[in-house]
This record gives sequence, C-alpha cells and structure tokens, in this order.
Amino acid sequence: MSRGLVFDLQRYAVHDGPGIRTLVFLKGCPLRCAWCCNPESQKAEPESLRRHGAMETVGREMDAQDVLDEIARDRDFYRNSGGGATFSGGEPFFQPEFLRGLLEGCRSRGIHAAVETCGYASADIILALEPLVDLFFFDLKVLDKEDHLHWTGWDNGLILENFKSLAARCPNKLVPRLTVVPGISDCRQNLSGMAELLRGAGLRDIELLEYHPLGSDKWEALGRESLCRPDAALSGRALTEAARSLSQQGITCCVP
Ligand code: SF4
Repeated sequence: MSRGLVFDLQRYAVHDGPGIRTLVFLKGCPLRCAWCCNPESQKAEPESLRRHGAMETVGREMDAQDVLDEIARDRDFYRNSGGGATFSGGEPFFQPEFLRGLLEGCRSRGIHAAVETCGYASADIILALEPLVDLFFFDLKVLDKEDHLHWTGWDNGLILENFKSLAARCPNKLVPRLTVVPGISDCRQNLSGMAELLRGAGLRDIELLEYHPLGSDKWEALGRESLCRPDAALSGRALTEAARSLSQQGITCCVP
C-alpha cells in the first residue's frame, strides 16, 4: 500500500465535515499563503520546529494502511454521528497516490471521506479521485490573479478551473470556503467576485472562516518570516461584514 507524509492526526473532531471525524493532515502544499495558520504543513519533507524551547520534527512517513487502521478505531462514533474522515493539509492532492490509497480504504470500509483542498492540483488527478470523495471543502482565497500570485505564490487560473469543473460535475458535494483575512480577502471587490463566481457555477452557499493568528508563532518557530501580519483584532468584524456583503448578493453564508 502507498506511503505518505502526515504531520498531524486528530480524533474526535466535530468540524470539517458532518458528525465526529478523524482529521488527517497531509504534509506538503504548493501554495505559500502569507496568512497560513499551518506553515509547518507547507514543505513536502519533515522539518524542525522549535516548540516550548525544544526542537521537534514535524512530519512522519506513514503507510496508508496504518492511517486507515487509526481512522477505523472510531468507526462506531462515525456510524452513530454520521461522521468519518477528513483529509486536510497542506494540500492532500499534493500526494495523489497516498490520498488515493486512503480514499479507497475509506470507501471499502464504508467510512465517509471528505477532502479539504486549495484546488491547486492537476485537473486529471482531482477528477480521477473525485468519485472516491464524499465531500470537498474547496478553499477559495483571492480572485484577482495578481493579488493571488502575490499572497500565495501562484496565480489562481488552475484553481478556478478546478473549482468550476467540480461545481459542474458534483455540485452537491462541493462546499466552497473563504477565510476572511482582514485587509486581504475581505475587500469589496473580492467579495463581489466570490458572489459572481458562485452564481456562475450554480452555487448559492459558502462557508466563511474567521482568520486567527495561531500560525504567527509557528512561522517564527520554523525560522521563517510570513509575508503579512493581518490584524487579528479586526477578524470578527471582517467576518460579519463579509457575511453581510455576500448575503446582500444572494449568497447564503455559514460560519461553521
Ligand atoms: S493552501 Fe492552506 S496549507 Fe497551503 S499555504 Fe495556503 S493556507 Fe497554508
């Protein structure tokens, strides 16, 4: 069975999908979002992080089978709550064969499988694995191409194409998400663009996530500098304003 790099595994989560879930965080992401709250997830190899004065290694190679055994421990909880497993990251599609093994394993065990993606992956890979995914959380960021390049390291052409493809193919299992980062993703132009994108794709709902600065210390702990320090004091208000703006444009907002 395939092997891959995992940087965290959390049991008994009650977010990122229905019911009680096990969250599996795959390491490696093609983007470099300036506000990333899990910067230790970005590099596709184990790395060292200083925490509480001691160095620790983030990322361990695991067999898909071992991850699946871990997930299957809470099968009864999933059955009773309508839960399952959510593969997050990093970017899960960045390790396609590993992800395939995990998704196939969930499917054969009857475990609901969700994937949280930034959408920056080959369309062939996403569409090939789509039938094995029960729910996609698709993290949209900024719609202006140049701004996206500036804040994440890549423009968003591929991401938007993949979003539209999934919306056309499986709208009922696609959950668009937007982290409302004060001063970056909450501007009027970006929110109007989001509403237009969703309407154009035949979607009417979005999940809004509040920006929180939990990642700030981690950048330092990794010996890296983040490109920005959004004002976390403005997060709550930015979220409320974004929800109001999108609602006025016919989009139903959910804050999970
Ligand atoms: S896509 Fe997610 S994991 Fe990757 S850099 Fe951006 S916020 Fe971090």
